[in-house]
Amino acid sequence: MSNCLFCKIRDGQIPAKVIYQDETCLAFEDINPQAPTHVLFIPRKHIPTVNDLTAEDEATVGHLFTAAAKVARERAHDENGYRVVMNTNAHAGQTVFHIHLHLLAGRHLTWPPG
Ligand code: 5GP
Ligand code: ZN
Repeated sequence: MSNCLFCKIRDGQIPAKVIYQDETCLAFEDINPQAPTHVLFIPRKHIPTVNDLTAEDEATVGHLFTAAAKVARERAHDENGYRVVMNTNAHAGQTVFHIHLHLLAGRHLTWPPG
């Protein structure tokens, strides 16, 4: 997608603090962190929302979770805990339409979210 912010970050056209990448996904620091750790995990493939997922994307989405768990473990958040969340469309506050898994950690997170 030519006009997608996260595709531009994937392609290096917009800078980001990339902390992990492999053949399937890319992870970078959120520009407006909501917790001491706030990392976004995106698939290299442009998928606008969770609504657009198909069966062929299942391994890709699963991979985002294992990558997030790896980073959480590396940062020693695994025992205290963390949140992984993917917002979809307006009611969830999705603002960038290239799916991304938020990893939030490093403080006590309230539930339910706002
Ligand atoms: P959403 O609201 O769509 O679930 O999450 C979008 C996230 O992307 C937000 O947490 C926001 O701070 C982050 N974000 C927006 N623009 C940029 C950017 O240019 N660089 C980075 N690293 N994060 C961004
Ligand atoms: Zn994209």
